[in-house]
Amino acid sequence: MFSLPQQSVAAPGSDIQAPSHSSTLPSDVIYVDEDAATLEFLLRLVCGQAIPKLDSYDVVEPLLYAAEKYDMPGPLSIVRALITTPSFVADPLRLYTLCCRYGWYEEAQTASTLTLTMNLHVPSHRATLLKLSSVSLLNLYELHHSRKDNLRTRLNETPFVNDATEASCSNCGAIVMYHTWRELKYVIITEMDVRPMGDTILEKGLDDWPAAKACWEAKCQKCDRVLYDKRETLKAIKQCMDKLPNKIELVDASEERRSLSPRK
Ligand SMILES: [Zn+2]
Repeated sequence: MFSLPQQSVAAPGSDIQAPSHSSTLPSDVIYVDEDAATLEFLLRLVCGQAIPKLDSYDVVEPLLYAAEKYDMPGPLSIVRALITTPSFVADPLRLYTLCCRYGWYEEAQTASTLTLTMNLHVPSHRATLLKLSSVSLLNLYELHHSRKDNLRTRLNETPFVNDATEASCSNCGAIVMYHTWRELKYVIITEMDVRPMGDTILEKGLDDWPAAKACWEAKCQKCDRVLYDKRETLKAIKQCMDKLPNKIELVDASEERRSLSPRK
């Protein structure tokens, strides 16, 4: 039904003979850029036919491109309704790129959160990142960077110890150095650089990392009192992480339009 091009067919009972293939007039043929599958999917979506299985980027990307080209908001809205299903969420960077491309702000925010498990500096992501507009790219980098930067700032503030100067043991008054905490902070921030979500820090790193073990085992050399309360420190780090930005933010509506405007 949806295969193009089609030959002219005579109506039933008509005396007019359908032209043979060799006599098909040039005007009978409509040339389009889309492949047959994409065109069939597009027409099914606008004709009330059963919706095809839309579960991969390779299927929906050419479909969206065609729907936009032919000014068909219906198919665009149907794909948008499906875009946060597991098939697409599994590749959050591609999801973010697609949502920015079509101006789907809320979905782009959701996707930006999901990218926090990824290291944007990995060369394999470069091709996808190049498809983003400058503002969308900067928004994503800003989100990733701000989580690391904000956490670094917070770890240097109370209730965490000040490792910049010598301190006194609260039990015996002897001079203690908090270099183990300084080294643990470095490892935490390094991990945030490659996985800004921070989940691996809380779930595993602060128990298993050698720098973490050294920190929790550190004691005052004079009275043998432990220097850090592990339970309270973990709790404080988690509270800091919970307050970190977790999705892209746009400054104002005009920037939103620029950020989410399609990139040709
Ligand atoms: Zn002491």
